[in-house]
Amino acid sequence: MPQVYDAVVVGSGAAGGMAATELCLKGVKVLLLEAGPKLDIATDFHHHVKPYEFPFRGRIRPREQDKYNYVVNAWNKPSFINELDHPYTGKKFAWVRARAVGGKSLHWGLVALRFSPRDFKAASHDGYGDDWPISYEDVEPYYSRVERMIGVCGTTEHLENNPDSHFLKPVPFTCPEAVFESSMRHHFPDRPVIHGRSATATEPVPGRPGLPCHYCGHCGRVCNVAASFSSAGVLLPIAEKTGNLTLRPNAVAWKVVTDQNGKAKSVLFLDRQTRQPEEAFGKVIVLGAGCLESTRILLNSSNEHWPNGLGNASGVLGKYFCEQIMAGSITGLVPTLKGRKSFADDARPDGTGIYIPRFRNLKEKQSTFIRGYGFEGGGGSSEFPGFARKIPGFGARFKDEVKKNYATVISIGSFGEILPRAENYVEIDPVVRDAWGVPVLKFNIEFGSNDLAMAKDMVETQREMFHAAGIEVLNERTEPLPPGWSIHEEGTARMGDDPKKSFLTRFNQSHEIKNLFVADAAAFLNASEKNPTLTILSLSMRAADYIADEMKRGAFA
Ligand SMILES: Cc1cc2nc3c(=O)[nH]c(=O)nc-3n(C[C@H](O)[C@H](O)[C@H](O)COP(=O)(O)OP(=O)(O)OC[C@H]3O[C@@H](n4cnc5c(N)ncnc54)[C@H](O)[C@@H]3O)c2cc1C
Ligand code: SF4
Repeated sequence: MPQVYDAVVVGSGAAGGMAATELCLKGVKVLLLEAGPKLDIATDFHHHVKPYEFPFRGRIRPREQDKYNYVVNAWNKPSFINELDHPYTGKKFAWVRARAVGGKSLHWGLVALRFSPRDFKAASHDGYGDDWPISYEDVEPYYSRVERMIGVCGTTEHLENNPDSHFLKPVPFTCPEAVFESSMRHHFPDRPVIHGRSATATEPVPGRPGLPCHYCGHCGRVCNVAASFSSAGVLLPIAEKTGNLTLRPNAVAWKVVTDQNGKAKSVLFLDRQTRQPEEAFGKVIVLGAGCLESTRILLNSSNEHWPNGLGNASGVLGKYFCEQIMAGSITGLVPTLKGRKSFADDARPDGTGIYIPRFRNLKEKQSTFIRGYGFEGGGGSSEFPGFARKIPGFGARFKDEVKKNYATVISIGSFGEILPRAENYVEIDPVVRDAWGVPVLKFNIEFGSNDLAMAKDMVETQREMFHAAGIEVLNERTEPLPPGWSIHEEGTARMGDDPKKSFLTRFNQSHEIKNLFVADAAAFLNASEKNPTLTILSLSMRAADYIADEMKRGAFA
């Protein structure tokens, strides 16, 4: 007889890692299937190697460019996929995928923002789309628990659309950030510049694995002491300690299999190295493979009873994709700081720096678009003076000019809410398969008219703010980056109370198959302008609590 686990969780990133950990803490025996290898965050990522110690100064070998997505570099390479083995088809889409224990949480930018009450009820505010079946009050206790578990630094601001977290001490502004903040306070009181909110332990957090931050500034290379949050560094050690976790790396989930009663009974997976099929049995199956991978597994799990995707009675599976458009970015020099001494300003965790919260369509109404956007950014000198490429000249005078401006650089970039539309969907490509023989996704996603109208406004406001602050513009991007670039995929298996219009219940449970759950951002109804991971973690923890309670009641026996 094969072993039947209480729960089989697929994917060990933010969503799957949290679901597995919370279930283990509640005494549930969990098998965690992860497609990638288990890497050692302390030793496998060349963490403190200097750019000049690599043959291409930290960039990937030019010959390897086709193999990797745009965020891959010499430090973080071990955990990202080889694109040639993992194709996808359809319209242009930047799909960034990490496959290793910890998933993309190993590399994320750490910006940790709560959704606001308005975000959960956006449709009621402007009439577009559907409200979430849950409210901010339903999620708030989970935000609080997650923050106390992982550590989030920042400042209390009492903003209506950006609820405060339980903050650890913030990282101070650099000089250009402080100058920009004070100028913005004067010129645009409705656009406060606040400290970035980052999932970093800037001080010890009781019960949290890992060490406090030592301010090396290399978070994107994977924090070697787990001071920045990752599922591998913070959650899974907690889960392992319970004795309830069985981790199976190199297990590529293909499909969820149902029994003769229509219940989910197992996950069929392929060993990544041998490519041999295996089956993992569970009383409950939780998908947390990342928004689009979970949806791919569900679509690939079609059977005689569910020809259009497992549990897809509503027909919404794959539809209502949403994310954020990255429309503009701008870099400039603060003239009053010219000639100042430079410091190691980038020796701080990612996600700190500055944040300009959404200011559109809160009190006023824009005539050309609904919803809004925020700006993330930072300033000061960095390990490599990238801005020097835009400084004209050569020789000694050029060097002097670069030095003079080193401490004055400041940049901001925008993230705007993409509306969820049924026309933005993914499906299974009928022909193409990946290197393991698993059918791949075809993308039918493009920006809509609201998204593009908002993008135009983002570019205008970034200029307006830099101009008002007297910042000399050095470089500006005014065209949106392609869909997917934000790496904030959401929707495609959305939750709702009406099974005709939604795939999941308010507890991330399939409407049709009661022991099947999706713990990641596939469950989202709309993206908001905020980065999603804190909300993914909180909803995954909430779903896991529900599963454990239902299990105690005997619901999945
Ligand atoms: C460079 C970068 C910067 C980012 N910055 C931010 C930020 O500042 N703030 C923010 O909120 N978000 C940010 N993100 C996004 C953030 O990483 C994701 O929102 C988050 O990791 C999603 O969690 P997840 O568990 O759904 O997916 P992931 O973390 O990707 O985890 C999914 C896991 O499932 C595994 N898996 C996939 N398919 C299968 C399969 N078939 N079988 C078994 N396992 C499978 C993968 O290997 C992976 O380990 C960033 C991402 C990147 C890459
Ligand atoms: S700056 Fe802090 S959080 Fe980032 S890698 Fe260094 S120690 Fe880790």
